[in-house]
Amino acid sequence: MSYILRLANMAADTAKANNANKVESVSIQVGEMTGLIPEYLERYYPKAVDGTILEGSKLEIEYLPVLVKCKTCGCNYHPDKTNEYLCPSCHNAGSDLLQGREFLIKNIVIDD
Ligand SMILES: [Zn+2]
Repeated sequence: MSYILRLANMAADTAKANNANKVESVSIQVGEMTGLIPEYLERYYPKAVDGTILEGSKLEIEYLPVLVKCKTCGCNYHPDKTNEYLCPSCHNAGSDLLQGREFLIKNIVIDD
């Protein structure tokens, strides 16, 4: 619940800074590593924004799976049990995280 409240505060601040009277929708990016489940966010969003400028707005979630880049061969892959968290091309373990940690507001549609 704390994640969604933080999100609601950030979105409300942005909307107020833009002199919005009403917010139509809030688009966010959620990375797999946050452990957040989109259905859970969708379910709690209306409660979290109840009584705020965001009340009645739609939450649009873009879910980003973990993606890493192999340090040895440079290929991008999703580390999981099927590849034993190793690069599927060269089978090395060293990698850099490309995406998956995101928890941010991408866009807010306001009605002024
Ligand atoms: Zn590799």
